[in-house]
Amino acid sequence: MVLLAFLPYASVRCFAQPDENQVTIVQISDTHIADKHAPHAAENLKHAVEMINSRRPDAVVLSGDIGENPQAWEEARSILKKLKPPLYYVPGNHDVHSSDVDRYRDVFGKDYYTFNVKSVTFVVIDSLLLGNYDVYGAKTPMPLPPQTEDESERMLTWLSGLRDREISGRVVIGVQHIPVFHDGRFPDPKPYWVIDDPYRSKELKALHELGVKHMLVGHWHNGRVFQKEGITWHIAPSTAWLPWGGELGFAVHTISASGDVHTEFVELPGARP
Ligand SMILES: [Zn+2]
Repeated sequence: MVLLAFLPYASVRCFAQPDENQVTIVQISDTHIADKHAPHAAENLKHAVEMINSRRPDAVVLSGDIGENPQAWEEARSILKKLKPPLYYVPGNHDVHSSDVDRYRDVFGKDYYTFNVKSVTFVVIDSLLLGNYDVYGAKTPMPLPPQTEDESERMLTWLSGLRDREISGRVVIGVQHIPVFHDGRFPDPKPYWVIDDPYRSKELKALHELGVKHMLVGHWHNGRVFQKEGITWHIAPSTAWLPWGGELGFAVHTISASGDVHTEFVELPGARP
């Protein structure tokens, strides 16, 4: 009892908050500003920004399909600049097509990069350099144009090289727009919905070498979590429209110091697609 009375305040506070190294990251996805399917997209995103600010996460990531054209990107950015935590962008297949990645880079900067939040390194991957998603109805995967194939090789070399650089000893979590697998319940088998070979095998090899156990992805507009190939895939819902039913909203990921990820899906109350 006597000893306890002499403990400095800082030690007591430290003991009372064992989760100081826990990271909370909000994932918004498929905001689709100016998409004809989503007339309320801007209004829903404003609502999401207010809700996210009140939760005070460490960071926010937007996992692609930001808007349909550069003017829509500007509208998204003007809404998103009201976010208090730092925001990280990821390209989606409505932002980048098979041969126009430069247009995205001119506005958003790098399309693949890393960022750190406390002891977690997030690896943002441009999944549009891992397949051609220009034709929704394609029955077999389409090739990338040669110039984009070169970009793809460069990104995969960068991804493999990360293990020799700054990430050793850190928790590494990947973020990209397009999931690598179907989950067995997804209703549409088209190649459009996933990363297809040969890119799938190349990416998986690199992710395993980096020790990635969790991937934050979008594209399906439907909140889901499933495991495949030793990785847990966390699919965020859309804030904009619902091709497969479900709820509009965003995902809140709580990451422990040891790298476990707990995902909560938060609905946007009263939001319309
Ligand atoms: Zn989308």
